[in-house]
Amino acid sequence: MKIGHEPLVIGNWKMNPQTDTLAKRLAQDLKKALAHKDDVTVVVAPPTTFLATVDAVRNGAKSFRMGAQNVHKESLGAFTGEVSLPMLRSFSVEYVIIGHSERRAAGETDTQVNEKVTAVVKAGLMAVVCVGETKRDHGAHYLGDIERQIREAVKGLSRAKLASLVIAYEPVWAIGTGQNATPSDVHEMKLFIQKTLTDLYGRNYAQKVRILYGGSVNPKNAGEIMKDGMVDGFLVGGASLSAKDFAAIVESARSVLV
Ligand code: PEP
Repeated sequence: MKIGHEPLVIGNWKMNPQTDTLAKRLAQDLKKALAHKDDVTVVVAPPTTFLATVDAVRNGAKSFRMGAQNVHKESLGAFTGEVSLPMLRSFSVEYVIIGHSERRAAGETDTQVNEKVTAVVKAGLMAVVCVGETKRDHGAHYLGDIERQIREAVKGLSRAKLASLVIAYEPVWAIGTGQNATPSDVHEMKLFIQKTLTDLYGRNYAQKVRILYGGSVNPKNAGEIMKDGMVDGFLVGGASLSAKDFAAIVESARSVLV
């Protein structure tokens, strides 16, 4: 099966590992494990404190690209504890995860997500917007939540910028629980996200947006979700902390290319 976009797999290390030495080791293992898989775009998003180390290990190699887990909308100023886009850029960051459910749970709003998307895209980087329901109900009201999250996130974004947007469908109940969404649920949601974007921008433009799945992806379920869910790739949490498992997931994403 041939899909429209080159597959994209993003590893979100969250607040792991505990030390810079361990981060360096993981980056080295990943660089080795991911060599020769460059027909898939692979992104590694370590904690901000480890960006320099991971970028130094990477040293421009194509095995993976640099990602960040969050950013502030302003580029400098009195914002204690925050990190700006120019700072991320200086560690080769190309992809920024925005609105992860763990950040939304800590109070990040749709408006803040939109401000960050606007800033990231304006700076020429890729915005990876996470959307997802906390639970599913029989009346499918959760679809309204997903639609709202998307509409709010892209408010003011022009058609021309859609190629800089990635949507990661991450049902909150599937994150870190070992309970992934089924491939058919993933496919249904992919179609729903595309429809929401099509209503806003028209079909041709909507198709420029890559749609990923995230939520307990592992080497065992990745192949089926990729193939039957028909997503463009994955956002991976827990399994991205093992070079072996992450490389196996990348390999599954790659299988749709043949
Ligand atoms: C995530 O945090 O984005 C995620 C998908 O986590 P996990 O793969 O561990 O469920």
